[in-house]
Amino acid sequence: MKPKAAFLGLGAMGFPIACNLQRAGFTTLVWNRTPAKVEEHARSCQTKAVELAEAASAEFIFSCLPTSAEVATLVEQMLPHLRPESIWIDCTSGDPEASRRIAAELGKAGVAFLDAPVSGGTDGAEKGTLTVMVGGSEEAYEKALPLLQAVGEKIVRVGPTGAGHALKAVNNTLLAVNLWAAGEGLAALVKQGVDPRVALAVINASSGRSNATENLIPERVVTRAWPNTFKLGLLTKDVGIGMKVLDGARMPAPLLRLTSEVFQIAKREIGPEADHVEALKLIERWAGVEIA
Ligand code: NDP
Repeated sequence: MKPKAAFLGLGAMGFPIACNLQRAGFTTLVWNRTPAKVEEHARSCQTKAVELAEAASAEFIFSCLPTSAEVATLVEQMLPHLRPESIWIDCTSGDPEASRRIAAELGKAGVAFLDAPVSGGTDGAEKGTLTVMVGGSEEAYEKALPLLQAVGEKIVRVGPTGAGHALKAVNNTLLAVNLWAAGEGLAALVKQGVDPRVALAVINASSGRSNATENLIPERVVTRAWPNTFKLGLLTKDVGIGMKVLDGARMPAPLLRLTSEVFQIAKREIGPEADHVEALKLIERWAGVEIA
C-alpha cells in the first residue's frame, strides 16, 4: 500500500500539488489556515480535510507556506504529535538557515526534513511538471522520491539541508534580474518606435532571450492580461533570501544586490499582493509608455 501524505497550506501552489499527490494514489490529508479552502479541496480532489494533530499521522508531511517563519510555527505545533521515522518535505521557498534550525528540531523527534522548493509556477503545479530542488539526506530523499515524482518532472537532490532553498533563492533572483532588465530594455525600444511584439520576436531568436522575454512579457505585459499567479511580495522575499546567500559567500555581487533594491522599491510602489510581473508597471510609469 502507498504511504499516507499530509499537505499543509493550500495556496496557489499547494492546492494543485496536494491534488496531484492524491491523484497519484497517495491518500492525502489536507490542512489550511482558512478552512473554506480545505473543504473545497476535499470536494474537488477527494482528499481528507483534517486538523493539524491528525495530519501528523501521515508518513510524509508536506508544507507550502509563504516563508520559513510559518513553517517553523507549524512544526512547533505539530512536534508533540509527529511519528518518528516520518519525513517533513517543505515546498516553501524558504530560508536555508531557518531550514537547518527546523531540521535540527525535527531531528530530535526522529523526523527527517527535506527542503524541496519548486519551480514552474501554478501552471507547472497543476500539470505536475514542476522542477523540485531538494536539500537533505540521501536516505530521506530516496524515500520521498516517489511522492516528489507525483508532483514534478525534474527532481534533483542538490546538497545537504538548506541547499534546495539556497538554489531556489538564487534562481528567483535571476528571474528578477531578467524580468526587470527586459522591462527596461523594451520600454526604451518602445520609445524608439519599435513595436514590443517585433522586439520580442527578434530577442527571442537572439542571445538576449530569457523566460521573461519568451513567456512572461508576451503573455502578461504585451497582452495587458496581468494574471496574478505569484505575488510580488513573495518574489521580493526570495530575492531577500538570495542576498543572505550572497552574504554567506563573502564576495561582491553588485548586480544581484541592485536587483534586490529595485524589487524593494517595486514592492513598495506596486504593492506586495500584485503579481511579480506587475513590477514592470513601475518601469512603464517611469518611462511614460506601455510595453504594448
Ligand atoms: P499563496 O499566498 O497563494 O498561499 C499561501 C499559503 O500559506 C495559503 O495556504 C495560506 O493560507 C498559508 N498561510 C499564510 N500565512 C499563514 C500562516 N501564518 N499560518 C498558516 N498558513 C499560512 O502562496 P503561493 O502558494 O503562491 O506560495 C507558497 C510558497 O511557494 C511561497 O514560498 C512561494 O514563494 C512559493 N512559490 C510560489 C510560486 C507561484 O508561482 N505562486 C512558484 C514557486 C514557488 P490561507 O489560505 O489561510 O491564506
